[in-house]
Amino acid sequence: VRISDKGRDLLGTLQFFKSLPEALSYLTDPYWTAVFSNLAFTSPADKQKNIKDISSRLKVLFEEEQSDGDHLEHLAKRALDLVQRGYESQSERLRSYDFEQLNRIFQKGKGNDQGNERRNLLEESVTYLRDQGFLWQGFKWTCSYCQHQNWVNLEDLTPVAECEICRHAQSSRVSGSLDFRLNPFAHHAFSSSSAQGPVIWCIAQLLQRARHSFGVAPALDLYDPESKKHIGDIDVSANVDGRIYLVEVKSSFAGVTASVLSEIATLALELRPDVAMLAVHSELEAESDVDKMLKQFASTFSELDVQFELLHLGNAREAFLGGEIALPIANEMTWSA
Ligand SMILES: [Zn+2]
Repeated sequence: VRISDKGRDLLGTLQFFKSLPEALSYLTDPYWTAVFSNLAFTSPADKQKNIKDISSRLKVLFEEEQSDGDHLEHLAKRALDLVQRGYESQSERLRSYDFEQLNRIFQKGKGNDQGNERRNLLEESVTYLRDQGFLWQGFKWTCSYCQHQNWVNLEDLTPVAECEICRHAQSSRVSGSLDFRLNPFAHHAFSSSSAQGPVIWCIAQLLQRARHSFGVAPALDLYDPESKKHIGDIDVSANVDGRIYLVEVKSSFAGVTASVLSEIATLALELRPDVAMLAVHSELEAESDVDKMLKQFASTFSELDVQFELLHLGNAREAFLGGEIALPIANEMTWSA
């Protein structure tokens, strides 16, 4: 068993916070998750132009019926190139909001009468993220000489800054407030392709069930002990008051197929948790094909000492901690990730 890359990303993200409940209250907060995903990289797969580009080239290849190695290699290079460009683009990396922009998003759709109160709440919430290093506060400026976008962190702020590319010196601005950007590590966790959201939601759901103890391991890769071959993965494994849960997490029921279910059954029989769980971050449509398939699947567990449980938005608990916005809980826990 080995922690997967995705699991490592999640552990890294959780460790910015002082406790697991604090981490989960921020990372499941609707306001913050929307802000984080706006500040994170856009995956090249989210740009329709890129998909069209690659798929039209694939079409040509298949129509020519001479999909030799050369063509495929070109295509692979092109795809990787797009990814690389996305990650290296300075404007992607330096996406930021200043406090007034954050406040406008937070106040949107709310009456003016509570404006100041809400502003104070937001200030407390932002301060925590900044102090923990999850958000970086600093000064974003475009070099008037070479147009390069520069970033100076709060601790390195000087009256005159030098462009990191051409060394052109430029005065730091005197008006306006500083910008907030995501810590580069958190970019990966919140990029549109990472799909950590449903996993974090599932962990928050499990933690809410615990009364005296809770332990969790993020995504694990499983290997056959004999052949060392990769044989599957577990998205979340948790110990809730002594009961072991192995969870397969999906963002929608479209991803719930017969082969996914048979993998859950195989792992359940092999590893024998107390509960084999399928957690789907979506609503289940009653009497749909997938609903019938799941009922049939659950009945196959009736003879076993492993319980099967389906968790979805329809039977999940209320939002974690609730409140207007995630706030520091103020007491530190002894914990490790
Ligand atoms: Zn420059």
